[in-house]
Amino acid sequence: MKIHEFQARQLLSNAGIQVPHGTMVTTTKDAHAAARSLFAGGSKMIVVKAQVHAGGRGKAGFVRVVKSIDEAIEASNFMLGNRMMSPQTPPEGLEVGRLLIADAVEIAHEYYVAVLVDRANRTNTLIASAEGGVEIEKVAETRPEAIIRVPLDPIVGIRPFQARAVALALGFKGKTIAQAVSVFTKLCVLQRTTDASLVEVNPLVLTPPTASHPDGEVMAIDAKFAFDDNALFRHPDIEAMHDPTEENAAEMRAQEFGLSYVALDGNIGCLVNGAGLAMSTMDIIKLHGGEPANFLDVGGSATEEAVTEAFRLILSDDRVQGVLVNIFGGIMQCDRIARAIVGAAKTIGFRVPLVVRLEGTNVAEARSILDAARSSIPTMQSATDLTDAAAKIVAAVGAHACNA
Ligand code: GDP
Ligand code: MG
Repeated sequence: MKIHEFQARQLLSNAGIQVPHGTMVTTTKDAHAAARSLFAGGSKMIVVKAQVHAGGRGKAGFVRVVKSIDEAIEASNFMLGNRMMSPQTPPEGLEVGRLLIADAVEIAHEYYVAVLVDRANRTNTLIASAEGGVEIEKVAETRPEAIIRVPLDPIVGIRPFQARAVALALGFKGKTIAQAVSVFTKLCVLQRTTDASLVEVNPLVLTPPTASHPDGEVMAIDAKFAFDDNALFRHPDIEAMHDPTEENAAEMRAQEFGLSYVALDGNIGCLVNGAGLAMSTMDIIKLHGGEPANFLDVGGSATEEAVTEAFRLILSDDRVQGVLVNIFGGIMQCDRIARAIVGAAKTIGFRVPLVVRLEGTNVAEARSILDAARSSIPTMQSATDLTDAAAKIVAAVGAHACNA
């Protein structure tokens, strides 16, 4: 589960990490009031930020530093009235329903810091870079040596010398060394105690020197958290931060019907029973040069209604140019799938090629149901095994794409 930046900032602040003051609003009117109150309180500069579960907002124009109420209103109108598109959003972008109106800070330097579950290394790992900000992905790609990785001990977490070494390596000086050490330590503790798979602050900033802070101050001005869903039961306060409007609508609908559905980028829709078979189906599609459009496990005990809904989900995705049904009937009965195929053909219609591979419980009955309906599903082909199915759907989709 992900949360919004304004919620993440709250968690950072509760943990004692310095974060500029801000308010979440959902209308331009409230944005106006929030901006007015910040300027009245002495702010010289404020920042208007779209609250969506995707990064890359700065480059997309959805983070704007402004110096007047009018500019704040204009930025709010723009963000609430346009969909945000960045490399991290779906191609159609994301609707913006929430804004953060916050104090802006002067920036002397932007750093990157994150604590995440490093599966390859099997540890929690602190990642930091002195080259933080909106180009961090490019730094990671072109100059990986500019990124420091510190594996953390599973029992004691970060050790003081490790935090200090990272602060020095990033170039912190004078009083800011202790501030940076404190931020790294608190982030590591926060990641563990909240069961987060990712805690990311980009940028962590150093502000320019002032009379009261001659070395500057270390502050978090952006934050991203992702939590382990399986541990959410331990954190009702975090679970309460869940924003269903940010979830993929199709995935939510699938959940209602007890289907495990994950949308992917390809064009071959898959309907499979069992997570393992679904994974191998995706693998074999790729092996034959195709790209799966989704992962979909209808499970063993899905009703005909749920399977029909599964077809509806797959076929309502414009990118789907072919569908592969791969069922091994153990608990699932093949005739139930066959009836759902016939039902889906009637109510939704298969305009795209459909390849069906059925094996197992009640397969003979299923085949006769499909045979009887063959004339009403002209795009349907049967496959004898998984390899045959993958080869047929990839070929059919290739041909379909050429004709389209
Ligand atoms: P992201 O692009 O979605 O990661 O959004 P961020 O919150 O990280 O903002 C993007 C960039 O906007 C930052 O890297 C900063 O350069 C700039 N920015 C954001 N907040 C402030 C601020 O308070 N003051 C200044 N001067 N720049 C800011
Ligand atoms: Mg950022």
